[in-house]
Amino acid sequence: MRSEFRVGFGYDSHRFKEGRKLVLGGITIPHTKGLDGHSDADAVLHAIIDALLGAAALGDIGAHFPDTDERFKDVSSDSLLIEAVLLVRARGYEPVNVDVTVIAEEPKLRPYVDPMRTRIAEVLGVDVDAISVKGKTSEHMGPAGRGEGIEVHAVALLQRG
Ligand code: MG
Repeated sequence: MRSEFRVGFGYDSHRFKEGRKLVLGGITIPHTKGLDGHSDADAVLHAIIDALLGAAALGDIGAHFPDTDERFKDVSSDSLLIEAVLLVRARGYEPVNVDVTVIAEEPKLRPYVDPMRTRIAEVLGVDVDAISVKGKTSEHMGPAGRGEGIEVHAVALLQRG
């Protein structure tokens, strides 16, 4: 018998790059640099996509949206997240809640947490109270701690729809 609930975990990291805008959780955050990547490099949405796909055992973001494909060049990751939700639904599951931890030495994310939650909830089609985003530093340890980029961990719960 198929389980009523499925949990999935996702991780993503991107390196900072001068001259790019910083897009996280579907919103643009004012900063001196952005994240490097084939798409808009929204590491928050990418980690959520991997958590959702993982919960449904549907592989990963690279399998569905390969960075060798010109269709995904500079694409807004919102559209990838929408496609991931459709894949999950086709398997018979609906997103229940998502919890995200963003590790960034800079910029300070607190002012952007609620706008990110609102946008992610909109895209997933769930209430904002089903979306948690937490910003942390890593006390100057590791790549994110040295300010080289941003790392994101996410878990997602699905329920049979
Ligand atoms: Mg990514």
